[in-house]
Amino acid sequence: MNVILLGAPGAGKGTQASKIAEKYNLLHISTGDIFRANIKGGTEIGKLAKSFIDAGKLVPDEVTCAIVKDRLTWEDAQNGYMLDGFPRNLFQAEELEKFAKIDICLNIDVDEALLMDRICGRRVCKCGESYHVSTLNGETKCRKCGGELYQREDDNPQTVKARLITYNTQTAPLIDYYKKQGKLATVTSGEGSPDEVFEQIVEILDK
Ligand code: ADP
Ligand code: ZN
Repeated sequence: MNVILLGAPGAGKGTQASKIAEKYNLLHISTGDIFRANIKGGTEIGKLAKSFIDAGKLVPDEVTCAIVKDRLTWEDAQNGYMLDGFPRNLFQAEELEKFAKIDICLNIDVDEALLMDRICGRRVCKCGESYHVSTLNGETKCRKCGGELYQREDDNPQTVKARLITYNTQTAPLIDYYKKQGKLATVTSGEGSPDEVFEQIVEILDK
């Protein structure tokens, strides 16, 4: 099963992606994580990506599509994968069709008014876990691995504003795109707890 996870920044894609990947034994491919690893490693791709990410813009399509296309040829992607953060515009969606067969697109729906607080209150761990300050009670370490929690550089109000505009103008049209293909499943519980959202996703995927 090959799945696309769609949703605005802060909709909870990353949180759900780890849970889905584990339960359904799918490879989790996050383009955001790939870019962040490249930035950390000081690669050419990282250097290029950083300027776009800091501005809340999309990294150019040629770069992003080439990364995903290559990643999908690896051995570990042959038994199903979940794309988190790709495609992010119509061009990427059309490119993806040339090298992948997608079964379902899960769209996590969350009221835009909640997103700013969700993202700016987010604290992440290098292991991939993320938390919200409102549930951390001042804790500074990851509950899963003990790692130091930190705030992503692009999780500041100014960049988030730009990311939301990018989402609304470029990514949101994909909802219609996958609806027309009969592949869209809407996760309506997106404003609930992570467990509630996951429960609904399981219901959808088990069908
Ligand atoms: P979020 O969904 O919370 O915005 P991500 O980790 O998915 O965070 O993405 C972070 C940033 O990485 C994006 O704002 C964008 O600059 C870049 N990025 C991620 N995926 C793509 C993509 N498919 N195409 C272009 N840029 C991307
Ligand atoms: Zn951790």
